Order: sequence, then structure tokens, then C-alpha cells
Amino acid sequence: MYSRRINDHIYLIDLKPSNIENFIASYVLIDHKTMIIETGPTTSIANLLTGLSEIGIERREVDYVAVSHIHIDHAGGSGTLLQHLPNAKLITHARGAPHLIKPEKLWRQTKQVLGEIAEMYGEIHPVSKERIMKATDGRVIELGEDIRLQVLETLGHASHHLSFYEEGSKGIFTGDAAGVYLKSIDATIPTAPPPFNLEITLASLNRLIKLAPKTLYYTHFGAGEDAVKRLKAYMSQLELWAKVTQEGMQNQENLETIYERVLKEDTSTGKAADFIRDHRVLRRGVVMQNIRGIIQYFEKTS
Ligand SMILES: [Zn+2]
Repeated sequence: MYSRRINDHIYLIDLKPSNIENFIASYVLIDHKTMIIETGPTTSIANLLTGLSEIGIERREVDYVAVSHIHIDHAGGSGTLLQHLPNAKLITHARGAPHLIKPEKLWRQTKQVLGEIAEMYGEIHPVSKERIMKATDGRVIELGEDIRLQVLETLGHASHHLSFYEEGSKGIFTGDAAGVYLKSIDATIPTAPPPFNLEITLASLNRLIKLAPKTLYYTHFGAGEDAVKRLKAYMSQLELWAKVTQEGMQNQENLETIYERVLKEDTSTGKAADFIRDHRVLRRGVVMQNIRGIIQYFEKTS
């Protein structure tokens, strides 16, 4: 099984890229209209389609596919997925759209940054321009009487990041705006690779907190309750990482040393150290990229 029911209207599909479970989720929202949030990468589109049929949704019934941002693990499969969904429009931030229409540069850069992980996720195929619906902040998408989604521009992780607020369950589909949630060990780790902007990320999180949400629907991975508490904890975690990184920069420590201190000072990341070491994607180097993102942020703003 790839699909799990969250409530009457929302399902999660565990995309299991390369059989890695509980790592990348797509969500399916069902009312008179149907929407998929996050496509995941190309290589797990077959699993997404299997999950969709498990739920009993026919491919022609999907009206919208929304992506939080264009990173390969969230939207890399868009072009491939749309080939299977004849009536679906792709909802994305305007700044992300050109990269999905012409993904060659995005794919090249992704390979440079992620190396073999990019190959595992698979090549990014183009989405035709006519199928893209650019979403701006505040736009409301109604799927029926029970499901209304508000589009929120939540920049910081990327310059084109959207979150989606679902009013019925008071839930937010956070993309990469609220970190990676590791449910099995109850820990969260930051999503702050370059070009990360700390100040804008914190402002986005504050905005999400003001909505007083109950649930966060993380792409990585699953639903987390006590949403406000989680968002606040994530803000503190980022602030701590930033403080340790800044101190490290002042003391001319290298990346490795700064990361070791982060593991010591941040209990959540410390708790995740073994998990990170053993995970096939969330390796040390990938997690350390977040420190690189914070370093570059301070270099730019100082
Ligand atoms: Zn991302």
C-alpha cells in the first residue's frame, strides 16, 4: 500500500523513491474536485499513480497538481505526472514556472548539487506552458464545499516557495518551509541549503503561526499535530543553528566542526544523528548543506 487516509478528504501517498519509505509524501485532496499536492521525483511517479488508484481516483478526475517549489524531491516528477493526468493543471509559484517549462538548467544544477541522488530521483521532464497555473499569495482554490485552500507565499527556503492552508482541518501543507519531520524519532531537522534566507524564512514561519493551524502536512514526512508548537520550535531551532554557525564563522571553524557543535547543542538534530548517518538520502553531507546555506546567508548579509 502506498496510500493512507488522513481524514474524509485528505490522503497521503508514500512515494517511496527507491523503496525509501516515510521520506517523500504526496497528498491527495478530494471534494467535487481533486488535487494532488507535491509530485515527488520522476522515478516515483508510478508509485504515486498506484496510490491514486488505491484511493479510487481515476486519472482523468484529477483537476490540479500543486507543488510547493521546484526542487526535484517536490516537483521533479511534474512533467511525467501530467502526461498521465489529462485534465490536470499544475499550480506553481510564478518564479518556479519557467524552470518547469524548460527544466534543462534545473536538472543540470540538481545533478551538480545532489550527484547520484539526482540520478536516483530521475531526470526532470518539461511541463507544457498551457498547463501551468501560476498561483499568487492569497489566492483561494475551492475544491468543493468542504475543501478550500489558501495559497501562501512562504519564501526563505527558496525564492519561489508556496504553502497551502486547508481551512477545514486547519492544516498547512508546508513543503520545505517548516523543516524535515522525522516522525519515528520525533525530531525535526532544518531545510536550509543555499540559497537560504534566514530572515525571510522566519517571517514566513511567523505568518504560518498567525493562522493558528492545528496540523502540518509535511512533504518530508507526514502529518504532525500541535502545529503552532512545531512551527515555534522550528523557528528556535533555526535560530540556534544560526547562532552556532555564526559563532563558528567568527572562530574560523570549518563546516565539519560547526556541524559537530550543532549536533551537541541542538537536541532535536542530536537525536537524529544516527538516523541521518543511516539514511540513504539524508546523509551527513546533505544535512551539512544546511549549514553551508546559513554560512552563505551570513556572508551575503554581513
Ligand atoms: Zn526544497
